[in-house]
Amino acid sequence: MSQIRILPSNCIGCGTCVQLCPFEALSLVDAQAYVDHDRCVVCGSCVPVCPADAIVDDSMPDGFRPGDSMDDWSMPDEPGIKSNEASFSGICVYAEHADGALVPSVAEVIGAARQLTEGTGLPVSAVLIGSEVGHLTGELLELGVDEVWLVDSPKLRLYAEDAEARCMSELLAELKPAIVLGSGTRRGRSIFPRVAARLNTGLCADCISLSLDMETGNLVVTRPAYGGSIVAKIIIPHQRPQMATIKEHVFRPASKVSVPNGIVRDMSSQIRVSKSVLEILEVVKGRADPANLLQADTIVAVGRGIKKAENLPLIYEFAEAIGASVGATRAAVDLGWIHPSHQIGQTGSIVKPRVYFACGISGALQHTVGMEEAETIIAINSDPNAPIFDLATYGIVGDLFEVIPAFIETLKAEKQQMMM
Ligand SMILES: Cc1cc2nc3c(=O)[nH]c(=O)nc-3n(C[C@H](O)[C@H](O)[C@H](O)COP(=O)(O)OP(=O)(O)OC[C@H]3O[C@@H](n4cnc5c(N)ncnc54)[C@H](O)[C@@H]3O)c2cc1C
Repeated sequence: MSQIRILPSNCIGCGTCVQLCPFEALSLVDAQAYVDHDRCVVCGSCVPVCPADAIVDDSMPDGFRPGDSMDDWSMPDEPGIKSNEASFSGICVYAEHADGALVPSVAEVIGAARQLTEGTGLPVSAVLIGSEVGHLTGELLELGVDEVWLVDSPKLRLYAEDAEARCMSELLAELKPAIVLGSGTRRGRSIFPRVAARLNTGLCADCISLSLDMETGNLVVTRPAYGGSIVAKIIIPHQRPQMATIKEHVFRPASKVSVPNGIVRDMSSQIRVSKSVLEILEVVKGRADPANLLQADTIVAVGRGIKKAENLPLIYEFAEAIGASVGATRAAVDLGWIHPSHQIGQTGSIVKPRVYFACGISGALQHTVGMEEAETIIAINSDPNAPIFDLATYGIVGDLFEVIPAFIETLKAEKQQMMM
């Protein structure tokens, strides 16, 4: 693993690094900076503050100086991390959890991993890191995981991405999976790049399909690129582990196995858990899915065609009448008409409702990738050539301000008739 080193010929014993080290890992001994490696977490914050360029992070190439661009350097092989060594094997999934429970997308990531390893004999493991999380191991084993790699420490009570990323990097460096998969949740997006950087390996984010090249061991990932206008296939041929996050709600969740026969490997005493540079003052809980799109059976989605925010109550009235949630295009969100949590599409939620009403939505690719899996799509658009009609099960060419009130009136009349 990388280390912070002092270059004695450069050190002027000024003590700047000693004052600034957040982990109190530096001190002056005989007018020279000294690193206590038991305390140092290799956060690297001392490297740029040294006025004499006397501190180096071993993970940087020789001669690398603060301010240099990494583009000018080719990274050396880090022992045990880079290359196609056979010692890297199996697939490891990141077992994200919150409030004492696994987040739902963990089952999707395990589902993707199990699909990849089917018939190959390759093991699927799960990294479970946190404080008092041992009770989650059973659920992971039930989802068909062969090994749970557990690091349980009171230092990880509140999620701090830097400390968790350091811990996960050490664990992966120790246990050497060939592939590491996580979900493209906020946490996945924050921790995976950190871990990939620490392990000096490649990461592909927000994948929508995965396959395994059995000859090379390469993971072949598919993801939209250039705003969804192309679909790229990407491999990470030279580095291990290969890391990827998968887009939520795209992969089928793993089903429970009838007889779990995996094991738990408690690595808590072998993996160093360091302090975070973050001081978490307060945790304010938001609602994970305020728009309730992900579970919705029916969605009424609005686009720029509603003209202004003041017209939204009509959409909410219709949604309420049919028990639907309200979604939106990015155009409606960007115009400030509706909260971003309602956005559907490439940069919003991916939804799979039974019925999807697209009201005043043109049908741009970046929107349709988020709703094309709906069972029935009903599009209302005044432009008969709107691309949304190519996708729609039923298309209504008309003004939504006439069509939707007509729907509402019909529903009201039917309700009244049923009550009579
Ligand atoms: C990198 C990137 C990521 C993106 N991510 C997303 C994303 O996640 N989600 C997303 O939605 N977009 C996304 N977009 C934006 C996307 O490209 C489109 O611009 C957007 O989806 C268009 O929204 P819209 O259909 O509401 O607006 P428009 O394209 O302007 O369409 C409005 C439609 O309303 C119709 N209309 C107007 N008046 C009426 C009326 N009275 N009655 C009926 N119909 C009417 C018009 O005929 C038109 O078809 C992204 C773009 C980029 C570049």
